[in-house]
Amino acid sequence: MMDSTKFYINGKWVTPAGTQHLEVINPSDEKGFPQITLGSQADTDNAVSAAKMAFPAWSASTKEQRIELLERLFETYKARADEMAQTISQEMGAPIDLAKTAQVGAGAAHLKNTIRALKSFDFEHPLGDHAPDNIIVHEPVGVCALITPWNWPMNQVMLKVAPALAAGCTVVLKPSEISPLSAMLLAEMIDSTGFPEGVFNLVNGDGAGVGSQLSEHPDVDLVSFTGSTRAGKAITIAAADTMKRVGLELGGKGANIIFADADEKAVTRGVRHCFANSGQSCNAPTRMLVEKSVYQQAVETATAIANKTDVGLASTEGRHIGPVVSEQQFLKVQGLIKQGIEGGATLVAGGEGRPEGFEKGYFVKPTVFADVTPEMTIWSEEIFGPVLAITPFETEEEAVELANDTLYGLTNYIQTSDKTRAHRLAKQVRSGMVEVNGKSGSAGFPFGGMKQSGNGSREGGVWGLEEFLEVKSVTDW
Ligand code: NAD
Repeated sequence: MMDSTKFYINGKWVTPAGTQHLEVINPSDEKGFPQITLGSQADTDNAVSAAKMAFPAWSASTKEQRIELLERLFETYKARADEMAQTISQEMGAPIDLAKTAQVGAGAAHLKNTIRALKSFDFEHPLGDHAPDNIIVHEPVGVCALITPWNWPMNQVMLKVAPALAAGCTVVLKPSEISPLSAMLLAEMIDSTGFPEGVFNLVNGDGAGVGSQLSEHPDVDLVSFTGSTRAGKAITIAAADTMKRVGLELGGKGANIIFADADEKAVTRGVRHCFANSGQSCNAPTRMLVEKSVYQQAVETATAIANKTDVGLASTEGRHIGPVVSEQQFLKVQGLIKQGIEGGATLVAGGEGRPEGFEKGYFVKPTVFADVTPEMTIWSEEIFGPVLAITPFETEEEAVELANDTLYGLTNYIQTSDKTRAHRLAKQVRSGMVEVNGKSGSAGFPFGGMKQSGNGSREGGVWGLEEFLEVKSVTDW
């Protein structure tokens, strides 16, 4: 792999101007491995300037040219999938099998779906039959800053990089400083694919540094951000002076509404989904709402599943969960488990401290709280660890009210064999996505949230492409 202290700017790996370094920590053993450089204002300026210089030519490239390059990148990505899986697993702690399948696979799928969307996208078309001489032109927004988190590194990076490049934008990617190595590997792949200089640039740094600098930068036309609601608000404020476009994909506190007529695997599926990726998914179904008549049974099943969930090193093959990403995340999750206990929820599985057999590593016990009520912190706060909250409900109306009782609105889940009820509820819950009976979204589905889970932006497929396009109307064509 390349020298991890370098940045990729204007088609070259360059020595940064920034002099501060940060160790990437393997969360399984708490050992530091490569160091990265935290960029300075000069590094941010260099990358933005390279992207700005490259924009006129890249925005004028043909759709076919962009498709060809993205297809080549797809081949390279597939060829280096194992290397990518190892990198993700080491930097953020995803068990290697999960890294090889879902983590790396998400990046491949988003690239493929973007190429598909690009192929069928009409960049120039009449307003309608009533106005054939009014032409609508979809043009790339310009220089885009892409700021991503650590929990699904290639998922989030590819959901931004692929459509931005497909749209004809030039980009500066600032991956999470906690999981920067997978993004650097992608930069290597982009370099070997033959994209023109300056079209894709990568600068490492933290939120207070490069993140804020990009958000404020007068030559950045759009910031696409995935991460915490806290940082999303800071970016919105920082971007306001220059009126740049801001796309936000933020946190979540998804409800999983389970009715008595749900299929027999609904509870097991819900618990496993909540614990997947060690609970570090913004769309995790973390609040399980269960119809009272089957509540006790659901609590027992959830307890059994949590007790059977193995925890293990990220490097070990198999179906266990790994550590959470960092010491900070570990302490946050421990603090919230403590608050759950002190707040009066019934702890039925897991709890505070590391699981047996672990003295180091950021490992958390798969934890289930029953009888969680809306006044409790663990009801409202995004925990981002393997912690499930279960609450009973009596009526459909109460279930909807509880599901919507959150600042977030990313994904909600409904489990029932009554399709009419599922359709009714899907329209009543306030979230950008609703998954019914364990079926996840198909290729190219729009990913994004309502309320404080986002600001209306959607990623993936055609919607993802449109995030990076301006709409221009021209008369008398
Ligand atoms: P974070 O907000 O701390 O960091 C995300 C990225 O933003 C990092 O690259 C970080 O350096 C940068 N950043 C932080 N503060 C910034 C600032 N003031 N200005 C500019 N950039 C800044 O989040 P995280 O801890 O890396 O990720 C976890 C969070 O992300 C969770 O809340 C999770 O729900 C959310 N998330 C949301 C989605 C989604 O699509 N809705 C997907 C994954 C994660």
